[in-house]
Formats: sequence, C-alpha cells, structure tokens
Amino acid sequence: MTERPPVVRTVADLRAAMTRFKAGAESTALVPTMGALHKGHLKLIELAKARAHRCVVSIFVNPAQFGEGEDFTEYPRDETRDLAAAAAAGADLAYVPPVSEMYPPGHITQVTVPGLGDDLEGASRPGFFTGVATVVTKLLLQALPDIAVFGEKDYQQLLVIRRLAADLDIPVEITGAPTVREADGLALSSRNAYLAPDERRNAPALHRALTDTAEGAAQGRDFAELTAAAEKTLLEAGFAKPDYIAIRHARTLASVACLADLNGEPGRVLGAARLGRTRLIDNAPLNP
Ligand code: AMP
Repeated sequence: MTERPPVVRTVADLRAAMTRFKAGAESTALVPTMGALHKGHLKLIELAKARAHRCVVSIFVNPAQFGEGEDFTEYPRDETRDLAAAAAAGADLAYVPPVSEMYPPGHITQVTVPGLGDDLEGASRPGFFTGVATVVTKLLLQALPDIAVFGEKDYQQLLVIRRLAADLDIPVEITGAPTVREADGLALSSRNAYLAPDERRNAPALHRALTDTAEGAAQGRDFAELTAAAEKTLLEAGFAKPDYIAIRHARTLASVACLADLNGEPGRVLGAARLGRTRLIDNAPLNP
C-alpha cells in the first residue's frame, strides 16, 4: 500500500496527470474536500473508486466560503495524515493547491446560484454558496473528471452543485453519497473536533430531531408543529435556537406546508444549529 498518492499543486500539473489517465482510457473521479479527512470523506473516495478507474482527491480549505468571524484560520489542517488516509482509501492522486494557485492576484469572477443558494444555509451564511460554487466550478474545470462525488451530509450544497454543473454545461456527472455517521447517529464532520465532551454527548440530538420530524411528516402530522417540536428538543439538549429546521421538497428544496404538497415525491428535512461554538448541520430523508 502506498503511503501517499502523488501530489500535484498546480492546475498545469493536475491537467497533465488527468491527461495521462485519459490517454490510458481510464475514467476519472474527483472528490473535493477541505482536508481533515474522516470516514465520511474516505467513503466518498471508495465510492469514486467503485465508479471510475482513477480517483483524484482535492484538499483545499477554501477561504471564499468562510464568512467574517468563521473558523478559516482554525480549520483543522494535517496534510501528511490526510494523504496517508486518502492513499489507504484508494486515491490515485491528490490535488493540493495553495490559495495563490486557486485565486491568483486579479481573480475576480464568482459563480452564484440565486434562489437555491440564498436559502437555508445561504441565508444563515451570506456568501457561503457563492464561495462553494466558485471553487467547485473551478475544481471541475481544472480537473475535468468524468464524475465528481459529494456527500449528502451537505444536502443543499449537493443540489447547488448539480444545478451549476447543469447550467454551465460542465461535462461531469455529479454523484451524491450517503452520510456516514457515528454509532449514536451524529454525522461525521471535521468540525465535530470542536465539541467539548458534554456537547459531544448531546450532539446526536440533531440527527434524532430531524429523523423524528421526517417520520412524523411521512405520517401526515402537522409540519409546523413538527418543526416547532424539533426546535424545542434541540434547545433542551443544549443547542442554541436553530438557524433553521425545514421540511422541503427533496429535489427542488421548494417549501412544503403539508404532506400533500409533496405530491407523493420525496422530501428532505434539513437543520442547522449551534452547540456551544460548533455549528452542526444535518438532514434526513422524508419518504411519503
Ligand atoms: P468538507 O471537507 O467538509 O468540505 O467535505 C468534503 C465532502 O465530504 C463534501 O462532499 C461533504 O458533503 C462530504 N462529507 C462530509 N461529511 C460527510 C459524512 N459524514 N458522510 C459523507 N460525506 C461527508
């Protein structure tokens, strides 16, 4: 087993490596990450390897998606450990560009997905999805992979990326991967490292609240009462008032006021709330 995959740090070297893969008639998959790799990221790499001959993992803590006062400087970074984990999961190449390669002096263009990108996470974190959409568009165009894999953990992000790839005619298949969880239901996240021990014990309440809401909604219970009950549960578990607990159409994220609004199609319950200084997000499927 290789200890670390080959590492490229420039667009030119990435393109040369991708060209070599393609010259061998090998299909390619890209897994974009911000590093601090955990089992959720590794699952994406494994899925990528199951779907394509070659997997490229990118590691880039994207300053453009952090707002003022957010954790850009303290975000966990450990390249040596990440490269070993990526190699063990099957990554064939790591793309680790410095900020100056991604955003050289004079870089000004942004990609914005209005509507979808202004809602929920976008409303709580202004500019967040423009930062995400811009860097993901660049990563897709830099690597031009056959497929790119993203986690359902960041459900709205997955929809934003599907939208931009379709709208900008980027020739890539966007693949979603199920959320990897701890045994108690907490979704794996690099930010879980910020949780104090007592917060860590209470953190699974978010997953429980969202799955309970989805279950109640599927049974036809009142949506407003369900989301109010979920908020109350979270407050009791020590969370701050949630940024949102929302029941939406799964494909469009359109608001739905009752089960009938889903017309028998899948829904999604999405939530975000702060526990101490850590902001957690998660979501649950609603299958009518
Ligand atoms: P991040 O490094 O947090 O930007 O995440 C990189 C990718 O990993 C994104 O597509 C995330 O949705 C995905 N991801 C993060 N956490 C999980 C998880 N617990 N299960 C599955 N995918 C995840």
